[in-house]
Amino acid sequence: MVMPIYLYGTRVFGEPVHRVTQFDTRLAGLIRDMFETLNNGDGIGLAANQVGLPVSLLVMDLSDTDESGDEKPLVAINPEILESTGECTIEEGCLSIPGIRSEVVRAESVRARFTDGTFNLVEREFSGMMARVFQHEFDHLRNKFFVDRISAVRRQLLKPKLSRMRRGEAVVRYPVVSAADERKLRRQDQTGYEINV
Ligand code: ZN
Repeated sequence: MVMPIYLYGTRVFGEPVHRVTQFDTRLAGLIRDMFETLNNGDGIGLAANQVGLPVSLLVMDLSDTDESGDEKPLVAINPEILESTGECTIEEGCLSIPGIRSEVVRAESVRARFTDGTFNLVEREFSGMMARVFQHEFDHLRNKFFVDRISAVRRQLLKPKLSRMRRGEAVVRYPVVSAADERKLRRQDQTGYEINV
């Protein structure tokens, strides 16, 4: 099932992310839905809070990119970054910030520990594009966006676009929830019927 992606400015990104403690079929189902959502949006990485669930889980799939090598789709539950090495600049985009791209400086490689898709604890090193996507998604789980890592001047230039996104005016070809949609949903909850705002 394709889930709607929560956009920059929605409340889920203000909530703390909880560790996953239940390794069951429900979690497996969520992982499946997240991959479906990721592929539907033509993305390469997705964190659980981007589909409205503040839990420590991210998925990655670089198989359609030139950078994949022989990397299979990856699941990381309760990820931690143990060590970061080097520095490089790469242009990034984000399914929660459609239509905006920017160059971001991050570590070149990272050593990470997480529980994988078969619910086994693993420790491994990522480099290149895998390291880049892993760090981007890991940031999501700490409610940090790539636009928080660019210069203040550049961020100022993006402000009008980010405001339009909050107002629900961004044109997106996959299902999304904007901050404006969230406000509308809350009013529906309170009144039991829809009020157009
Ligand atoms: Zn993102």
